[in-house]
Amino acid sequence: MPAEQFRKLGHEMVDRIASYLDTVESRPVRSGAEPGETLAKLPTTAPEHPEAWPDILADIDRVVMPGLTHWQHPGFFGFFPANSSGPAILGDLLCAGLGVQGMLWATSPACTELETRVCDWLAEMLGLPETFLSTGPGGSGGGGGGGGVIQGTASEATLVAMVAARHRAVGRARNASESRSVSPAAGPHLTVYASTQAHSSVVKAAMIAGLASGPDDRAHLRLIGTRDDYAMDPALLSRAMDDDAAAGRTPCLVIATVGTTSSTAIDPLEAIGEIVRSHGAWLHVDAAYSGAACICPEFRAAHLGAGGAALADSFAVNPHKWLLTNFDCNVTWTADRAAWTGALSVTPEYLRNAESASGRVIDYRDWQVPLGRRFRALKLWFVIRHYGAEGLRAYIRGHIQLAEYFESLVRSDGRFEVASPRTSGLVCFRLGALEGERPAATDARNRGLLERVNATGEVYLTHTVLPEIPSCPVPRLVLRMALGAPGVERRHLDRLWALLSAD
Ligand SMILES: *Cc1c(COP(=O)(O)O)cnc(C)c1O
Repeated sequence: MPAEQFRKLGHEMVDRIASYLDTVESRPVRSGAEPGETLAKLPTTAPEHPEAWPDILADIDRVVMPGLTHWQHPGFFGFFPANSSGPAILGDLLCAGLGVQGMLWATSPACTELETRVCDWLAEMLGLPETFLSTGPGGSGGGGGGGGVIQGTASEATLVAMVAARHRAVGRARNASESRSVSPAAGPHLTVYASTQAHSSVVKAAMIAGLASGPDDRAHLRLIGTRDDYAMDPALLSRAMDDDAAAGRTPCLVIATVGTTSSTAIDPLEAIGEIVRSHGAWLHVDAAYSGAACICPEFRAAHLGAGGAALADSFAVNPHKWLLTNFDCNVTWTADRAAWTGALSVTPEYLRNAESASGRVIDYRDWQVPLGRRFRALKLWFVIRHYGAEGLRAYIRGHIQLAEYFESLVRSDGRFEVASPRTSGLVCFRLGALEGERPAATDARNRGLLERVNATGEVYLTHTVLPEIPSCPVPRLVLRMALGAPGVERRHLDRLWALLSAD
């Protein structure tokens, strides 16, 4: 494509995106496409001859748009948001335009060093401990200091934390057996812990890392029960780790969740951190959605506890959920860079270079699963500079106020109940049980309500099932109102509530 044509078509594409975002509210939130509908509109073979650009664009409207659910729609309240913004989109465009592959420092020094600095910025903006900074004092685990890395997703962060924790635990076990001059046995039986409310990526990571043969294999993975607020019960964690240690197993990793996917429950980091430390294990904090709330000092203590995340070995947050940076953008910090990279570093001859050998540079290929990497730091850098920390705090505060407002609407109607404590931008709620109604019937009424409001096309909510807890012996189907689409205002919540409370 000649430069002049690219310039013209590029301007048109930016116009198209701007108009889309400006008018997204007029579209039905959720795609009504049936399975196979999009496929049926596509030729089964690739074009042999070049096609005209207008024909390609026409298919955006004909083929693609009807099959889209509009995540940037202010009526999108499903799952967790995947929000975006002008500066982020432009950063991603520039990333594609520069076409840099940043696997090594040497393959584009700015790609690495900008990422290092932006991760440090964000750590300080979230009030995370100094041990996570690239310039920090070094962490719990044997030197090398800390630092942050941008990966695609929180799932990758969990997987890397798992292999880093394993690397450290196996290394320690080997050292211990060498110092007792016993021949190293088959290796320790490692155990990993998370709450029953942890994200499915924990189980998936265990499957990938070979610590679980399938989703129900619990030989190495222990799922710990929760308290009434759906947060991990530290007493149950302590007992499980003690039992494993007493049986000769090696507790190696605990994954605490700050903002569970079902209900944004917050596992108590301080109590968990003390237990993890007493076993010499690794504490990874998965704060994929709720971590963004820590950008406001007033929400930090509720999310991280009084000690902050000081006892954590790694901490992950997704700016692509709730910090105006389009998918994909996960930032993970580790306080133990040596273990993190030790678990992943393999150096074939063709990647050797003088700077890497000097030890003076970061090679982010050693911090992630793939080799190659995009210049994702650009979009986060643009977002932070365009809005400033102040603008991002105002964004989060605005959403949390809206969530409070929605919660007050739910509480004002006796037919409804708030089903779990609201900790930030998510409200879990449901129609309460009628006199003498069986739990399955209450669930069915809630499912019916969800289907009715989603069928209007004006809003989109999703559901979850909250498990039994000490004070409620049956699992309950609940509706989730998850805030975070850019552009959501009070009027959108008023409309949502009008639809929910109509009959
Ligand atoms: C969304 C979510 C994840 C998964 O996020 P990806 O970035 O899509 O992998 C993990 N953990 C929690 C708590 C989440 O809410």
